[in-house]
Amino acid sequence: MTIRLTRRAALTGAAALPLAAAATLPAAAGSHAGKSAMPHARAFRLGEMSVTTLLDGSLPREGAQAIFGGGASDEEFAKVSAENFIPANMAQFYFTPTLVEVGGQKILFDTGLGQGGIARALAEAGVTPDQIDVVVLTHMHPDHIGGMMTDGAPTFANARYVTGRVEYDFWARMEAGNRVGDLVASNVTPLAEKMTFVEDGAEVVPGITALASFGHTPGHMSFHLDSAGERLVLAADLANHYVWSFAHPEWEVQFDMDKAAATAARRKVLGMLAADRVPMIGYHMPFPAAGYVETRGEGFRFVPVSYQMM
Ligand SMILES: [Zn+2]
Repeated sequence: MTIRLTRRAALTGAAALPLAAAATLPAAAGSHAGKSAMPHARAFRLGEMSVTTLLDGSLPREGAQAIFGGGASDEEFAKVSAENFIPANMAQFYFTPTLVEVGGQKILFDTGLGQGGIARALAEAGVTPDQIDVVVLTHMHPDHIGGMMTDGAPTFANARYVTGRVEYDFWARMEAGNRVGDLVASNVTPLAEKMTFVEDGAEVVPGITALASFGHTPGHMSFHLDSAGERLVLAADLANHYVWSFAHPEWEVQFDMDKAAATAARRKVLGMLAADRVPMIGYHMPFPAAGYVETRGEGFRFVPVSYQMM
């Protein structure tokens, strides 16, 4: 499962990437597409909390502008890409659930694609699925709920669950035949009696509160972490690409169900993170998926972590 970034490709840019081969990759490439092995777990310290990002999978996708640049001109999209040293015609996707350990509890945010990546990443962090106490679902797209079940049984056998009421109610109403609705029916609804449905501002456990950021999906939730005066936001899918969705929050993203609401949520939450200098973890940011936000012109810039929060 490798896409070889050769020296020539590195020097000549995206045109040299073997995208035809990439397009045939299965949807849940288990390993990083780069040439070298990559860790699948990275721990951060946040006050009394241990926060570990877990790489469930990563894969390249063609057609980046169609996915992330709705409303952008070809010139604008190429310019922003070049300014940030990435090709304009492909995107490397990352899928990154997060484990928070606090107060003796292990709380997992999202479960990955359902191809086994989450169990491997948890193992790297020294945790088995049956040790998870709480599973929080930020929203119910397949790359977040895919790991809820393994061979028809709950992956996290001893967990209780937390998710947004608006989100669950929206998908639970879907008629059979809706791809996401069907996956919710098989992977989420069977666990509904072990589930707590929360609204904006609700507490998951002390120090972790829900932060409504509707738009990507009707009930999409981010989560605010606060421990011993240190803060971090699990942004989930508030912004889906670390360059384009920050530089131009108004560029429409194919996966955002309500484009205007998603843009408004990006501007509001990213603006708060920038103003307060609060770090974030984004589910689709390049691994380890954590960084800071700065304002840049009319938009923002994602500044990946280096050695903060060690
Ligand atoms: Zn997602």
